Amino acid sequence: MEELTHFINGKRVADTSGRFADVFNPATGEIQARLPLATPAELNAAVEDAAKAQIAWGATNPQRRARVMMKFGQLINENMDKLAECVSREHGKTLPDARGDVQRGLEVVEVCMGAPHMLKGEFTDDGGPGIDLYSLRQPLGVVAGITPFNFPAMIPLWKMAPALASGNAMILKPSERTPSTSIMLAELLQEAGLPDGVLQVVNGDKEAVDAILDNETIQAVGFVGSTPIAQYIYGRAASNGKRAQCFGGAKNHMIIMPDADLDKAADALVGASYGAAGERCMAISVAVPVGQETADRLIDKLLPRIEKLRVGPYTAGEDIDYGPLITAQAKERVLGLINSGIDQGATLVTDGRDFSLQGYENGFFVGPTLFDNVTPDMEIYKQEIFGPVLSTVRMDTYEDALQLIIDNDYGNGTAIYTADGDTARDFAHRVNVGMVGINFPIPVPLSYHTFGGWKKSAFGDLNQYGPDAFRFYTKTKTVTARWFSGIKEGGEFNFKAMD
Ligand code: NAD
Repeated sequence: MEELTHFINGKRVADTSGRFADVFNPATGEIQARLPLATPAELNAAVEDAAKAQIAWGATNPQRRARVMMKFGQLINENMDKLAECVSREHGKTLPDARGDVQRGLEVVEVCMGAPHMLKGEFTDDGGPGIDLYSLRQPLGVVAGITPFNFPAMIPLWKMAPALASGNAMILKPSERTPSTSIMLAELLQEAGLPDGVLQVVNGDKEAVDAILDNETIQAVGFVGSTPIAQYIYGRAASNGKRAQCFGGAKNHMIIMPDADLDKAADALVGASYGAAGERCMAISVAVPVGQETADRLIDKLLPRIEKLRVGPYTAGEDIDYGPLITAQAKERVLGLINSGIDQGATLVTDGRDFSLQGYENGFFVGPTLFDNVTPDMEIYKQEIFGPVLSTVRMDTYEDALQLIIDNDYGNGTAIYTADGDTARDFAHRVNVGMVGINFPIPVPLSYHTFGGWKKSAFGDLNQYGPDAFRFYTKTKTVTARWFSGIKEGGEFNFKAMD
């Protein structure tokens, strides 16, 4: 069995705590590696070294830091297949999906190549007699990233690239279920020229996370994971005076209007709800057809598409549609929720509970499951299932469908399929959700925009990546300067003197 490590001060560092987490192969159910879990003392020592390394890195001019990002981007491209294989091995997602995971992270690195531009301050000439004002964006110092299992490359890259390009040092605590990609990325960053100690990958569980939240040197925490943990981390980090942005879970709805192209809507729904086994915070988990006829037609279109889905291990080839869930507990939870849906009166249209694959009987697979006639009081509607389960909630009117989404606790992503521009525009303006798709099922914004949900999908300020990330990872200092020999108030600039 493989023994995994931390990555501290430029080296792979073996366990000293004696505490470990098992890392599974989700396709077989076997333990494939053992991950050391850091103690608070190990975490604090890594922070202390990061603080020392940050001084020179923060003083490095932004263009040089951007060059490290350029080289890093190049190395990610060169190592795309290895990184994707590492993602699939621990997560279980298909290789094309894993390459997408790396690619969407790489795109954030590409934006960070423009760090000098993003970090430019503002300037007011002649704010008073001989007075100029200028603002600087300065790094925070040491910051932390705490990331979930479901995007082992993309989300660590969303955290590390803007934090480092802004001149900070980062303590990255990846998910204990999918830790290895972060170590690979840290090694590529080292090869790209990042000084040792500026990125410390410290593996751990709640003990290490609590040590991050209580460490006085760490200035900011960027978290992504489930809503209860996001809320906990936001509260504890903020009460310790840290800047915190904590992104949580989701329940994403897609409205299907009677005038929508139902073939396109059904194709999109199948990809958005069952892709990555539904383990995406932007997965569509609720279909909301408007009108009984639309609903009947939609179910008819979905059925043959669902029947064609191929579920299997990533090693079975590129035409697999999705893989296993992440752990046996995750599978049990999803099966329990499916049972609750049946008990509470939803119509089970396709049943993925008994899915089994020869040679992979102990894998954490669940077949594609479709419910119809789901109502908002059912557990399958209220909870984020995070599995290959799509619920259909039939609504009579567009207003009812919109209100359903407005009343939902979560507000990460949503979509509408329609041929009517007025309805689409109305939806985009009125819905209280952070990311909206119009005839677009998973509206993850491109890397030069920003990513973030509303309501219980996010706690704290500012979004991830894009311009917001540079704001989150820097503080603004504003200088008001007076030079007594400057132009007097009311004085005119002498253009002639320039000749
Ligand atoms: P999780 O909340 O279990 O874990 C996330 C991180 O928190 C991990 O690093 C984990 O070690 C740590 N953690 C777990 N329990 C903790 C505790 N009690 N105290 C302190 N730290 C703890 O989430 P997950 O299962 O890894 O990821 C799936 C969740 O993440 C889903 O809810 C999904 O919607 C959400 N997610 C959200 C976004 C977003 O941008 N909004 C993106 C991806 C995933």
